[in-house]
Amino acid sequence: MANKLDSKIPSGPIESKWTKAKFDYKLVNPANKRKHSIIVVGTGLAGASAAASLGELGYKVKAFCVHESPRRAHSVAAQGGINAAKNYQNDGDSVYRLFYDTVKGGDFRAREANVYRLAEVSANIIDQMVAQGVPFAREYGGTLANRSFGGAQVSRTFYARGQTGQQLLLGAYSEMMRQVDAGTVELRTRREMLDLVIVDGRARGIVVRNLLTGEIESYEADAVVLASGGYSNVFFLSTNAMACAVTAAWKAHKRGAFFANPCYTQIHPTCIPVHGENQSKLTLMSESLRNDGRVWVPKAVGDKRHPNDIPENERDYYLERVYPSFGNLAPRDVASRQAKYRCDEGRGVNDTGKAVYLDFADAIKRLGEDKISERYGNLFEMYEKITGQNPYKQPMMIYPAPHYTMGGLWVDYNLESTIPGLFVAGEANFSDHGANRLGASALMQGLADGYFVLPYTLGNYLGGTKLEKVSTTHDAFKFAEDSVKKEINKLMSIKGSRTVDSFHKELGHIMWEYCGMGRNEAGLKKALEEIPKLREEFWQNVRIPGDANYINAELEKAGRVADFMELGELMCRDALERQESCGGHFREEYQVDGEAKRDDANFCHVAAWEYTGENKPEVRHKEELTFENVHLATRSYK
Ligand SMILES: Cc1cc2nc3c(=O)[nH]c(=O)nc-3n(C[C@H](O)[C@H](O)[C@H](O)COP(=O)(O)OP(=O)(O)OC[C@H]3O[C@@H](n4cnc5c(N)ncnc54)[C@H](O)[C@@H]3O)c2cc1C
Repeated sequence: MANKLDSKIPSGPIESKWTKAKFDYKLVNPANKRKHSIIVVGTGLAGASAAASLGELGYKVKAFCVHESPRRAHSVAAQGGINAAKNYQNDGDSVYRLFYDTVKGGDFRAREANVYRLAEVSANIIDQMVAQGVPFAREYGGTLANRSFGGAQVSRTFYARGQTGQQLLLGAYSEMMRQVDAGTVELRTRREMLDLVIVDGRARGIVVRNLLTGEIESYEADAVVLASGGYSNVFFLSTNAMACAVTAAWKAHKRGAFFANPCYTQIHPTCIPVHGENQSKLTLMSESLRNDGRVWVPKAVGDKRHPNDIPENERDYYLERVYPSFGNLAPRDVASRQAKYRCDEGRGVNDTGKAVYLDFADAIKRLGEDKISERYGNLFEMYEKITGQNPYKQPMMIYPAPHYTMGGLWVDYNLESTIPGLFVAGEANFSDHGANRLGASALMQGLADGYFVLPYTLGNYLGGTKLEKVSTTHDAFKFAEDSVKKEINKLMSIKGSRTVDSFHKELGHIMWEYCGMGRNEAGLKKALEEIPKLREEFWQNVRIPGDANYINAELEKAGRVADFMELGELMCRDALERQESCGGHFREEYQVDGEAKRDDANFCHVAAWEYTGENKPEVRHKEELTFENVHLATRSYK
């Protein structure tokens, strides 16, 4: 297992690195591809696209997901769109500009070479998805339509109303099912990966729990791809689906995969505000709404008038005021912080004072209600169903909420983790987004990884590695199965009195309070005292009714919450050690006029954490970042 971080960035100018790498990579001839098996954990956009392309290439793929259908992966929830540097609008976009915007948007904490490749393949993704029949919005003349997202001054976001993720997932899912039909992909739903199997230092299989029967099953392969999504649910309340969990990635971490930048989480500025203690989910209102919606709060502190009764000159369109160049399309980290500042000043709205307005009155006046409905109809409907208020008639109320995680398993340029043979794709890897992801770039990254990167890099691994045959009778499988069973038995034998959710909620409160939108040394240290106490109580007092040998949703949740607690602690340590502010990681001690103050001299690196054993402190490794193309500069959207 590699101990030091080798990012394996190809040599040469940034524009030709990927072309060079593809030429240099080893190939596997078609007849040999049929001899190789690959496990893909997760069938969201990243996993389904990987399984489909690897199957199409002729590999034997075994795909797994926790859902009853791959179509229920959390990718289905993506609303606003997917970026690509097509320059259809003729407004100055290019691969270089998308690369530049993404490096800057991530506050110079992403690897340049990966970001460039992402921008480079972005245009192929749109062609691929159009060929699959994804019904992207079109202009009157038939060309594909675009809109703008935060952190960009061009329109490069392709969309299918407010259901882009659903339509893309249907495309990737259909491609994967075609391969299932062709016999190259075996799909196993309702299986939760609970351990990674390592043989001779390489990832060679997984252990899963069959969520319908409770059986523990093992599967072997020549390589494993994890595409298991992000970990925002560590906050309990987030915009992620209930089943999103860190478990697959965390178990791999405990087997040797370094976890990079766990403290880089994204708090999305436009979500429906929290409305009560019994809530278990938060709803996103897509960033695309900021194309036409204007964000404001009353100028006067404590102004309780109905928004429609507050005249223009008594409103503060604070994003337009503070960031005249980007206005309402300031990136997410910046827009979220500004919303918090306004609410902290006492100018927040809603009964809680924790909301700001997103107002469409101007756009409706300019474009008409029909046009706005055509663009955002389903989002408006969703908002009205949840809040009982009609956003065509009065402004929406929104507030920031946990949404996306830039941190994840560390991968090199080839998307290979520190465990040889374990590749990581989509939101599960530490990604190309640095300390802040730009809107509409997650779908782009997941599909880039699955369709356009892994098919080459996995081929290179399989073509260049001598692998002995292994079967699930190998001792390493027995060892992993035993450890899974031991953990399940331990959980079932506690028979305590507190529900899993109550622990998850308490963890979420700690994380939001001390490792949320603002972080500081004292708070992080407090969290690092509170989480271990909560974890101890969990292992003594959690209540899991039912049986382990049957469907047991509480047992599933308990395992996930146990992993979230360990991850939460690592997030706080990571946030504590990173004594700077960058992107979504806002250390209150490091700021200039309310903006993030980076420390490039000491922190221009990826922090990758190595697990060293139960109750032992993890070791922090560094991958230094160099910026040869987009030069380090203070990020400004003014
Ligand atoms: C409400 C919302 C709206 C969004 N809108 C946009 C947008 O407009 N544009 C954009 O670019 N991004 C958007 N995002 C972000 C984007 O949707 C996600 O980052 C992306 O879809 C993640 O894809 P993925 O394939 O990596 O993971 P997921 O889609 O989360 O898939 C994870 C897969 O892994 C499986 N899995 C997880 N754990 C295990 C396990 N232990 N064992 C077996 N299987 C497992 C799951 O069953 C699932 O199949 C949005 C996110 C949210 C929450």
